Amino acid sequence: MNEVVSKAADWMGAARQLQPATVALRRAIHAEPELGLQTPKTIAKVKASLADLPLEWKSGPSTTGAVAVLRGARPGRTVLLRGDMDALPMPEDTDLPFRSTVAGVMHACGHDTHTAMLASAARALSARCDAIAGTVLFMFQPGEEGHHGARFMLDDGLFDDPAPEAAFALHIMPNALAGTFQSKAGPLLASADKLMVSVRGRGGHASMPHHAIDPVPVACEIVTAIQVFVTRRIDIFDPVVVTIAKIDGGSTNNVIPEVAHLLGTIRTLSQASREAACTGITRVAERIAQAHECEAQVTIERGFPVTHCDARAVRVAERAIGELFGAGAWSTMASPIMGAEDFSYVLQRVPGAMLFLGVCPEGQPWKTACPCHSNKMTLNENTLALGVAAHCAVAERFLGRGFEGWVPRGLRGRFETRLAPRPDESMGARRYLPRVRLGRGRPTPAAHETVLFDHPVGAQQAGLRNRQVELSGSPEIDDEIELHRQLDR
Ligand SMILES: [Zn+2]
Ligand SMILES: [Zn+2]
Repeated sequence: MNEVVSKAADWMGAARQLQPATVALRRAIHAEPELGLQTPKTIAKVKASLADLPLEWKSGPSTTGAVAVLRGARPGRTVLLRGDMDALPMPEDTDLPFRSTVAGVMHACGHDTHTAMLASAARALSARCDAIAGTVLFMFQPGEEGHHGARFMLDDGLFDDPAPEAAFALHIMPNALAGTFQSKAGPLLASADKLMVSVRGRGGHASMPHHAIDPVPVACEIVTAIQVFVTRRIDIFDPVVVTIAKIDGGSTNNVIPEVAHLLGTIRTLSQASREAACTGITRVAERIAQAHECEAQVTIERGFPVTHCDARAVRVAERAIGELFGAGAWSTMASPIMGAEDFSYVLQRVPGAMLFLGVCPEGQPWKTACPCHSNKMTLNENTLALGVAAHCAVAERFLGRGFEGWVPRGLRGRFETRLAPRPDESMGARRYLPRVRLGRGRPTPAAHETVLFDHPVGAQQAGLRNRQVELSGSPEIDDEIELHRQLDR
């Protein structure tokens, strides 16, 4: 893209012009929500709204998902932008004039807005396609709410050719200041597995438990033992959340039932803790049952994997959004959220990031606004223009520069670094973390330094502003370092 169109303000101007169309599409989708992997009316609305554009459409046999391919005037990189299309099986209790007309189905997770923002981004980027080098893939996916829509689209081969080199998705968040963006490198959202335990004993008279084998107290013991297992056997810095959300057994007050059932969810932030949790919970449940002469059958239904954001992609987004709206619009999340996302499947294959867009309704405090999945969730539609512009700016930045500013693996030599102290939210508001930090992998001793200062001036006085680092071996650099100038070769 050339200098003229790459100005950040252009994307906001384009998004503002498209705002009536964005809102109209969002409201049309909201009024007619669809569930699961089949969202034919929604994708039809999207395609109709983009029918005049030079997009190639691809779809597969497994879902109604579709990919719109925008080819720029010149060859280049390929970037994927995602919007999800499905709603939730729940009643809508808002008084919006465009509220759901389908009983028991509601767009309570904002996927109507994601789809509408992505469609407008496709229009804005198409308008500038003469200036684009590379390809943009707009992924309209159904089945995010637990139906593995993204995995089906990947398995259908919709992203094999051209294959994306980076992927980005936006998710609205009513519990965040309207117009702010946030994300973080590494795990952003958890894996989500469904846990089912059946504890089988032997039924009998409630007054003579010794003649029966009562599965109810055994099931209760398993519930508490799982919590003991999680806190005692799992590394607290690789957290796991297990919630038993449903206990079920028995029919009346004077009968010991044959079976008791537990139903719950297992959330983790790494594959290692996920496996440890699944194995450990199975062991604990089976052996507690065994100790009481019961039998536990443990079934774990694997759900979405961990949503892992690539640090380079997060930085691409942070910079693009910083240029659009100023640094104040961006915040780096101090910790992940234990919710889960289907976009995790995309991020398993393609480096990328999911970003949250604050959409708190006007006049409401963001902390107490009705969250996603609430039957009363509403949002500030003015923020949709910001999301459209953010999609465009992030795609443009990646197409233009790739993961620039990152040290390629295997780079050697002596470099001068540029130190840009910034608040480190995880450590409290008043500490500053210089951007000279090589994390995982094999950092060189000179560069493997994370120094915390109470004030940015402290970092400057310590002479870290333009320090030299030497990279040798094959550093695998996952964290930030800005190499200002190479000093030798
Ligand atoms: Zn949701
Ligand atoms: Zn969602």
